[in-house]
Amino acid sequence: ALRKHAQAIGVEQVNRLYVSELLAGNGEVSGAVGFHQYSGDFYVFRSRSTVLATGSTYYKGIHPGQRDCTADGFGMAYRIGATLCGGEQNDQPANAMPARVDVGPGMNKWMGEGAVFRNAKGERFMERYSPKLKERSGLPQIIAFFCIEARMGRAPILMDATHLGPENMERLYQMLPLPQREFESIGVVKDGKFQKLVEFCPTGPTTRPGVVVDRNYASRTARLFAAGEACSPSAVVTGLAAAATSGARAGASAARCAHDSNGIVGDNGLVGELRERAFGPLARAGGLEPDHVLLELQEAVIPYDVLLLREGSRMERALKRVETIRDQDLPMLGAYDLHYLRLCHEMRNLVLTAELQLKAAIQRTETRNILREDYPFTDNVNWLKWIMVRKEGDRQKWWTEDIPIERYPLAPKREVELAYLWRVPRDLGIVSIQDGRVQWGSEK
Ligand SMILES: Cc1cc2nc3c(=O)[nH]c(=O)nc-3n(C[C@H](O)[C@H](O)[C@H](O)COP(=O)(O)OP(=O)(O)OC[C@H]3O[C@@H](n4cnc5c(N)ncnc54)[C@H](O)[C@@H]3O)c2cc1C
Repeated sequence: ALRKHAQAIGVEQVNRLYVSELLAGNGEVSGAVGFHQYSGDFYVFRSRSTVLATGSTYYKGIHPGQRDCTADGFGMAYRIGATLCGGEQNDQPANAMPARVDVGPGMNKWMGEGAVFRNAKGERFMERYSPKLKERSGLPQIIAFFCIEARMGRAPILMDATHLGPENMERLYQMLPLPQREFESIGVVKDGKFQKLVEFCPTGPTTRPGVVVDRNYASRTARLFAAGEACSPSAVVTGLAAAATSGARAGASAARCAHDSNGIVGDNGLVGELRERAFGPLARAGGLEPDHVLLELQEAVIPYDVLLLREGSRMERALKRVETIRDQDLPMLGAYDLHYLRLCHEMRNLVLTAELQLKAAIQRTETRNILREDYPFTDNVNWLKWIMVRKEGDRQKWWTEDIPIERYPLAPKREVELAYLWRVPRDLGIVSIQDGRVQWGSEK
């Protein structure tokens, strides 16, 4: 509908085009460059204002939809020196989906109809952690308690819907026709009933080191605007509603900027360099395949005890692996066609995103909506802050900015307290807090 409307009002559209870089000079953005996925033609867009709306990433995990989420916008914005924030603390830590079946999302619907989660011992563990809401708890709680069960040796986590009756199943077929049919095709659902338990897992660490924007969705770099998940999570929450509203406002702001500005700024002859960079991997057709590098990256960042159940030294180790990939593998990436060329660029942006996420996560020495073993407290004295980063020349500049809670109608108290996500397992005797760290019980 949006596309049709844009066509009707005369918006020129270019499809199947991979945007590889923003065009910028003298601190101002003046457009973007990229190549056509089919013809390989190089495109240069010169503009008075530019809106970045490239979405987020899940490190191309196994779950549906995740391969398409590229992290390109974060990389492009970073390289032109835009200010980014929020890589460590997404507004939505992770979802939970079937681990070995290519279906989802839909957890809310299965749980809504009465499905439950069981651990490897068959226990309905969410009853213990969250007696009132159980499986209908918020995602940060569900994912945290999945991780704690796994850490205690009680994984895999399984969804049990075998008790659902005909009415539940009818509604599920109406709401989730494709996943239900997929379950049928592998024998999980037969004769109108769930016959087997389904393994579930977190969808992996999401992250958004997004562009810092103001209320008009203007970034701190002149003539650059951002919308949706390309923005930092402090400005735009995950979801279609926020993507649509931020897009509408960013578009109007960008139009005002274009109307009020004098003309297109020069690019200081950058186009030639960006063209060379865009096609560089084609000159190394026998180089490393992007999928090989992707697997290495996923092995570094996706295991649950790196970014979902955090601990400083484990994250440092993961960061070293990511930096090795950055320094040794990325320069070797090669592409033998335009498809692989795009994947090479995506890899570059994903590796940078992982680096930014880990560095920010290491800095945030507290537990807020994501578990951190070595800092189990929510620290509203020192950490009501955003962690910011910007590229300055060849170095990364990191700093924090205070969240202006004094302006908020509902402001948290400035105090340090054991995070809710740790208080629950502490009260259940699963962990204890000693010397400011989490100690795990020995129960198996
Ligand atoms: C599996 C899944 C289920 C979800 N379910 C829900 C739900 O039920 N309800 C809900 O509200 N939200 C849901 N979300 C979240 C929602 O989809 C996102 O918040 C929303 O789509 C973000 O919109 P966006 O415009 O910022 O980014 P996107 O919708 O991701 O759009 C970004 C676009 O930019 C393009 N792009 C990226 N890089 C480049 C490049 N280099 N060159 C050219 N084009 C590029 C991409 O191809 C894509 O079309 C779900 C997300 C996922 C992954």
